[in-house]
Amino acid sequence: MAAGEEEGSAPEPEQEQEAAAEEPRSFKDLGVTDVLCEACDQLGWKVPTKIQVEAIPVALQGRDVIGLAETGSGKTGAFALPILQALLETPQRLFALVLTPTRELAFQISEQFEALGSSIGVQSTVIVGGIDTMSQSLALAKKPHVIIATPGRLVDHLENTKGFNLRALKFLVMDEADRILNMDFETEVDKILKVIPRDRKTFLFSATMTKKVQKLQRAALKNPVKCAVSSKYQTVEKLQQYYIFIPSKFKDSYLVYILNELAGNSFMIFCSTCNNTQRTALLLRNLGFTAIPLHGQMSQNKRLGSLNKFKAKARSILLATDVASRGLDIPHVDVVINFDIPTHSKDYIHRVGRTARAGRSGKSITFVTQYDVELFQRIEHLIGKKLPAFPMQEEEVMMLTERVAEAQRIARMELREQGEKKRSRNDDDDTEEAIGVRNKVAGGKKKKRKAF
Ligand code: AMP
Repeated sequence: MAAGEEEGSAPEPEQEQEAAAEEPRSFKDLGVTDVLCEACDQLGWKVPTKIQVEAIPVALQGRDVIGLAETGSGKTGAFALPILQALLETPQRLFALVLTPTRELAFQISEQFEALGSSIGVQSTVIVGGIDTMSQSLALAKKPHVIIATPGRLVDHLENTKGFNLRALKFLVMDEADRILNMDFETEVDKILKVIPRDRKTFLFSATMTKKVQKLQRAALKNPVKCAVSSKYQTVEKLQQYYIFIPSKFKDSYLVYILNELAGNSFMIFCSTCNNTQRTALLLRNLGFTAIPLHGQMSQNKRLGSLNKFKAKARSILLATDVASRGLDIPHVDVVINFDIPTHSKDYIHRVGRTARAGRSGKSITFVTQYDVELFQRIEHLIGKKLPAFPMQEEEVMMLTERVAEAQRIARMELREQGEKKRSRNDDDDTEEAIGVRNKVAGGKKKKRKAF
């Protein structure tokens, strides 16, 4: 069986969502409880919107959610319904906090909470600037279930309103997070994050996935599921696709050149076989790059280990085969390199779709050797455009060949060692172990080479 598609690989949110979005479903199908389904019905919400189809089931499962959706998509319902359902299950005061950038949005959100929650007696309060703090303090003293607030005024109350705290909070929503951060509410958001429990559910909604939003996501969310709906986030416009036409024997040197040229990015490099994935990972590590392989000859645990290191940004380069990477949610990829050209053109689309996600920009570079011209033409035909060549300084590439040749030699030796070890242990292996073995062989003198 093809590796990576079995043994409970982490589901890829986008794929799930596409499938889900095709069939219109009811709120009940999404797991919404009867009383809330009735509330939706009374509001004239007959079928859930796309973001609701995607976000509600995962939120009901207790997962953190990143929703890439704009106002008008029904996103308020997408976070309000799971919160109200959890509140029904475990009633508690000061249960949820919704942070939003503007007063207007705060009131709109509050209206929806009231409308959806009126039959179950939900109380909510809006805490925004421009309104006298005394009446807000009184409202807070009544301990509403849900607070909808702009960050600045909420911090005022957290610091100055006696008896008010959010230490028992169960849900945090950051709505329109990109706007919150663009309005320089970062300090306030940080202060709020510090005084609410870590053990909570967090939903982050944003129209765009900016650098600041990503930072916030990393600071505030735990293992979130991404739900993206807007057609605005199609990859095509933001994806710069290039090719390089090179002699097959210099592929490694060109790869190293590109990694140096685009240093500071995260890379996903596709190879056609497990062996070449492993070999290239070893080669790059020998040259000081933080590269890690992901292929079908690794156990599921090791594959997930690789992926987690890459996700945690402990490694900046993930080398993978198509099969091993399928079905896994791989975030943060700035550059996709087709080191070995895909034999099926459709795989090309799948591979380059790993970057330029959710409104971010990204690059893809496809290596085309003298043997790959026909396959490359098929890809261009499929995507309906001619790709530009990636600009390169050939002389600089050639200056790398000597060091690359040395690293290739060591990588071959390591691959052999791994093969022998594997045969003797009848177990699988990974690059990191192999490097460890090599270092031991070399008398423990670990030479750390700088990436050049
Ligand atoms: P939002 O994006 O949350 O601001 O929602 C935009 C508008 O869509 C609001 O007026 C909601 O009442 C409405 N809405 C939300 N969900 C649904 C739904 N499932 N069906 C119809 N309208 C909805």
